[in-house]
Amino acid sequence: MRTAAKCFLLICAVAASGVAQSPQAPPPAAPSALAQVIDRIITQENQLSKSIARYHPLVETYIQHVKPDRELGAVPEKDEYFLGKLNLAGGIDDHSLLSAPSLPAKSLKFFNRFFSIRFLPSGFAQMALVDEAGFDRQHYDFEYVRREFLGEVRAVVFDVKPKKGSGAGRFLGRIWAEDQDYHIVRFNGTYGPTTSYRHYFHFDSWRVNMGPNLWLPAYVYTEESDFRYLKVRSLRFKGQTRIWGYDLKQGSREDEFTKIVVDAQNPVRDQSDTPADLAPVGGLRAWERLAEENVLQRLEKAGLLAPEGEVDKILTTVVNNIQVTNNIDIQPEVRARVLLTTPLESLTVGHTIVISRGLLDVLPDEASLAMVLTHELAHILLGHRLDTKFAFDDRMLFADEQTFKRLGFRHDAKDEAAADQKALALLENSPYKGKTAAAGLFLKALSAQAGGLPALIRPHMGNRMADGKTVSRMAQLMNSAPQLETARKEQIAALPLGGRVKVDPWSCRVMMLRNKPVALLSAREKLSFEVTPFLPYLTRQSTTEQVAAAGAVGAVANTGAATGNGGGATDQFKTSGSDHDSQGSTETTMAATEARPATPAAPPKQ
Ligand SMILES: [Zn+2]
Repeated sequence: MRTAAKCFLLICAVAASGVAQSPQAPPPAAPSALAQVIDRIITQENQLSKSIARYHPLVETYIQHVKPDRELGAVPEKDEYFLGKLNLAGGIDDHSLLSAPSLPAKSLKFFNRFFSIRFLPSGFAQMALVDEAGFDRQHYDFEYVRREFLGEVRAVVFDVKPKKGSGAGRFLGRIWAEDQDYHIVRFNGTYGPTTSYRHYFHFDSWRVNMGPNLWLPAYVYTEESDFRYLKVRSLRFKGQTRIWGYDLKQGSREDEFTKIVVDAQNPVRDQSDTPADLAPVGGLRAWERLAEENVLQRLEKAGLLAPEGEVDKILTTVVNNIQVTNNIDIQPEVRARVLLTTPLESLTVGHTIVISRGLLDVLPDEASLAMVLTHELAHILLGHRLDTKFAFDDRMLFADEQTFKRLGFRHDAKDEAAADQKALALLENSPYKGKTAAAGLFLKALSAQAGGLPALIRPHMGNRMADGKTVSRMAQLMNSAPQLETARKEQIAALPLGGRVKVDPWSCRVMMLRNKPVALLSAREKLSFEVTPFLPYLTRQSTTEQVAAAGAVGAVANTGAATGNGGGATDQFKTSGSDHDSQGSTETTMAATEARPATPAAPPKQ
């Protein structure tokens, strides 16, 4: 218990440094009013425990086991990943959060198996609720601490301790409840008591306002620096759990349907400019586009693909830059979308390039993004087609859990090599010519760390970027890259996970984070490919501004905010200029990319 308390205090101290606190805040009211506040918090939490069963969002947990490192403090040595659908109906019956290699994952009852499960995912889902059975005055003591702002939301803070003899799996830690309706918006601590066969991790769990009177779990950060189990074994790890897709619909089709207006006076006429049946080539293209649309809609419906949005436009701009300078005109036009998962991957579905959120996060600059997108563009140009079997609707009729078994978009080694060659040629004749040193450096960093990150580099549907320590994507770019210097803080080869893209957990919309870059104190803050604590900037959704507010609620602060500094070049699509003289301007931010006209500047001079 002593160790547990120590960890808890440490986490609190770190977390508290990033939030505004009102000095010398008096208790909110007289004892009786305080008692009422506690009662309301208890009521709201127990209502959430019941109502959450109606939602089935996706839950993704990514864990990195770390080992001490002389230069970087700690580095990942292996990782774990799982993705599933949350199913909290029927209660949680297994509080154990540990599935050590010697302990089989025995209870997956409330977690529908989705892809791969090796840790015990139910343990991480558990951290979405304080205590689904017994969060009340009979089981807990509450002690008022202070008022505090979490983002825009003012919260009352309590320390919560289980009463003696109140049983296993009780929460011990601190809760933050917003001061209008008294929903718990954050809780931080652990469960207990730990026994020889039950182990509990420390966690920091956050909820987000997703509508009037609706605060739902969205982020959980877990960390242990010296977790002992089975007497002698020790775990050091950190992990992120993300929950999204509370409002999964059938794509955008429902909206479309409501827009159909029946007007008997003016019979509906097909507005398309095709005067007659399609010619064979046109027919084939339409058929392929149908398969593409089917796949995209199915992925969106499963909550795996973000709805079309602002990030897609940024990606498309980069793709257009490549096409225009190479005099390419692809019909139907090339589009881009974001896969919401963490593992690093990109793929092509027909003429749509898909890039994962995790990969977008870690790419250091626009030229590196161009490298990834150009490889996929090359597949399209080379006619590496989507299997048109997906044009048949019945192929889309499967359970969400089957998605990655049914939909695969991998190319063979020959096509991969051909796409790499073509992509290099395209980049040579693009605005990114001479700027690919950072992309090569990124691949070097990937090569250096991939051995410790097997789960991060294992794609769901696309081709691998690296196989073990061997980079299998655009590896030629590494030849022109500078030497990788992990100990030098100025050289940012890859960014941490979670620093660039935020996901609205209700609608699955993705947005770019726009944090100010802050100089790093040491190489320990580079955190390439690493997970970092969550510190969302909480806001309330007004009923009139649902969409706008949705943008802010998902705002996960980067590492820096949680540790009291800026976290480096997280938001900027730039590298530290001094490292790559070829990089030139360091102003290639995401915002700049977005603002750039689709027609790029003059082609590079030869
Ligand atoms: Zn490929």
